[in-house]
Amino acid sequence: MADISLQHIYKTYDQSVTAVNDFDLNIHDKEFIVLVGPSGCGKSTTLRMIAGLEDITEGNLIIGDKLMNDVPSKKRNIAMVFQNYALYPHMNVYNNIAFGLKLRKMKKDEIEKKVKRAAHILGIESLLDRKPKELSGGQRQRVALGRAIVREADVFLMDEPLSNLDAKLRVQMRAEISKLHKQLQTTMIYVTHDQIEAMTMADRLVIMKDGVIQQVGTPKEVYNSP
Ligand code: ADP
Ligand code: ADP
Repeated sequence: MADISLQHIYKTYDQSVTAVNDFDLNIHDKEFIVLVGPSGCGKSTTLRMIAGLEDITEGNLIIGDKLMNDVPSKKRNIAMVFQNYALYPHMNVYNNIAFGLKLRKMKKDEIEKKVKRAAHILGIESLLDRKPKELSGGQRQRVALGRAIVREADVFLMDEPLSNLDAKLRVQMRAEISKLHKQLQTTMIYVTHDQIEAMTMADRLVIMKDGVIQQVGTPKEVYNSP
């Protein structure tokens, strides 16, 4: 269960830039939330605070019934996918996906089961022995997703995961991520500056500007509002 409550959250950088200004939102378990808005409006900062990669200046982050503000990133049951899917160039796909599990000293056969399941979900079973440089952009992005899937986290955070892909592939991957969300039954928080992407994927949109939430609603509600 992963209801996420962001209660009056602020982020100030260098005691001057207010990147996030009174972000207040309840996210339901298994909901697909999209944070959308122009570059610099505070989307990534919000995501990074949820991930524990950035301190919260003020306000509370609660996941389930637990106050998370001071819980280190590693101890949060969260998986994250960034736009520049930093794969390890010298490792094959299998080991790129398995890397985090190996760090956790999981048993070899258990790792293999999880990697193969993720690869099956993503349709990359035939690519496990390839190196990243032998993959297309879309295939690399799937490997990055595979890495996140094997963490079996309750919460998935994605920061512009498709922005390096060409237009056609972006449309295809949007549908795949929506499908993945249904399959994994996780709470998703997805950041994009692309309004169409936001509209097609979100259960609810959170529209941000200058660090402030402008509007929250379903795509229909947002689209129909003046
Ligand atoms: P977005 O993801 O919507 O593009 P960000 O969250 O990256 O926006 O940035 C929000 C604001 O915070 C911007 O004004 C940005 O310049 C500033 N900012 C982001 N990261 C830092 C940082 N590490 N130090 C100082 N200012 C930052
Ligand atoms: P080496 O350390 O000899 O270079 P690798 O890095 O290729 O070997 O593999 C490290 C581990 O990952 C090994 O335990 C190997 O069995 C496993 N592995 C790599 N690729 C695959 C694959 N396609 N299917 C199953 N296991 C794999």
